[in-house]
Amino acid sequence: MLLQAKRTIKEADFEVRFEQAQGVKLLKHLPGDPRCRNIRGICVLCDQPAGPGRICRQCRRILPWNDIFCECCGQAINAVQPHGVVCIACESRRPRFEIARAPLIYDFPVDAVIKAIKFKRQLWYVPAFAELLLRTLKTEFAGVDALVPVPLHRWRQMARGFNQATELCRPLQQATGLPILTQAARIRATSAQPGLNAAERKKNLKDAFAVSGELKCRHPLIVDDVMTTGETCSQLAMTLLKAGAESVSVLTVARALGHL
Ligand SMILES: [Zn+2]
Ligand SMILES: [Zn+2]
Repeated sequence: MLLQAKRTIKEADFEVRFEQAQGVKLLKHLPGDPRCRNIRGICVLCDQPAGPGRICRQCRRILPWNDIFCECCGQAINAVQPHGVVCIACESRRPRFEIARAPLIYDFPVDAVIKAIKFKRQLWYVPAFAELLLRTLKTEFAGVDALVPVPLHRWRQMARGFNQATELCRPLQQATGLPILTQAARIRATSAQPGLNAAERKKNLKDAFAVSGELKCRHPLIVDDVMTTGETCSQLAMTLLKAGAESVSVLTVARALGHL
């Protein structure tokens, strides 16, 4: 009962944010079957003509782009020189992956859309985000030879009905021909990460992943919706490296602010 009440409050909050955004013609819902929303040429965020992509020019201007970021982990940083800057966290301890990139910052409306995908099954937003991922993939990750969606534990995947990371990988696979590697699994049901500090996250994720059989790639690209501290991707990267990968990189839709 308590859980239900909490969920309702959360969803109500979420709708308010959607309504506020409508003031700037952002995130207005089409009536009728929501599946109709995934129409090429119509902006997935505001339902206005979108040109060749799935997000119109006006919404692109409003989106929180991750333009100045750490060269290593992709975290947004305040830097005068945007090139070659490494954040304090990466200076003191490099993550296990080579580089991580995220075209967007996890802020409104990106956070709302990602929650809608994950918790309301509004998967029609996926192709729009995949378009942004594809652009970053082409410019930053020329040498990768497989896509690795961050695996969910099978219980969580059963409850959700899908893995959002795999859904993001499908259009990337179609566009690039890169295989989606399914050898990585989350073998330990970890508790939810929000609210945990960096040390607790690391402990929570220890030995969480495993690779079955001989690894079928050398330069995998981990794909996920959001990267927060980077600990999940770092642990998965370590598992892939132990299994024989030569280098591991990370591509996510969004990067959370201020968690490193
Ligand atoms: Zn739009
Ligand atoms: Zn960094």
